[in-house]
Amino acid sequence: MDERRLREAIVEIGRRLYERGYIVASDGNLSVRLPESGRILTTPTGVCKGFLTPDMLVVVDAEGRKLEGILPPSSELAMHLEIYRQRPDIHAVVHAHPPCGTGFAAAGMSLDKPLVSEVVLTLGCIPLAGYGTPSTEELVAAIAPYVPHYNALLLANHGAVTYGPDLETAYFRMETLEHFARITLVAKLLGREQPLPAEAVQKLFQIRERAGMTVPSQALCGLPDRAPSSDETLTLTRQQLIELIAETVEAVIRFLRLAR
Ligand SMILES: [Zn+2]
Repeated sequence: MDERRLREAIVEIGRRLYERGYIVASDGNLSVRLPESGRILTTPTGVCKGFLTPDMLVVVDAEGRKLEGILPPSSELAMHLEIYRQRPDIHAVVHAHPPCGTGFAAAGMSLDKPLVSEVVLTLGCIPLAGYGTPSTEELVAAIAPYVPHYNALLLANHGAVTYGPDLETAYFRMETLEHFARITLVAKLLGREQPLPAEAVQKLFQIRERAGMTVPSQALCGLPDRAPSSDETLTLTRQQLIELIAETVEAVIRFLRLAR
């Protein structure tokens, strides 16, 4: 895609983020790598990304120095540059504050339970990166350990960032993150989350791997590398066995009390 069409794509995705309520006022930012130049095209700071025009966008180099544009570049540019630096496969970054996903991030909760098959297929799982003051190196340090291993992150007490091989994929990952946050919230309100069993998750990860999707890996999603077989021998110490029985008896007593 040439620069003119990339500029139009950023304007269009900014409009969608605003219309869906993933950003308000001057929140959020977007960027893409410009083909074969090492330069980055990004949104300016301090304007509403729902009403951008192609000429408002800013071109910076890989260190964030402004090369073209009237307005100053995004205040979260350092976070975008860190993602491009660590992931040569990534060509677009979307940062927003979608209300439900950000609610989980404000509650200190990640979205890493395998509750919905389609989400396991598309994103695997979504961790929560620690808090870092927006627009500072703290935020870069908070996301840095997660960047090589995931394609969507919650940012503690702040929002979310997603990235992909092109702008549309990065945006759809933000949509999936927010949709999954809503579904997780409903499951929590219903009082019962029922994660997919390990065998089902393993099959989904096999489909992902066949499609060439290796980030994140099954092990990183807090799931076993392989489903335990039913005839597997487990070794417990006497103390672990006593604790297991005591926990089971306690759970049964609690259940009986509730059922009365
Ligand atoms: Zn933000």
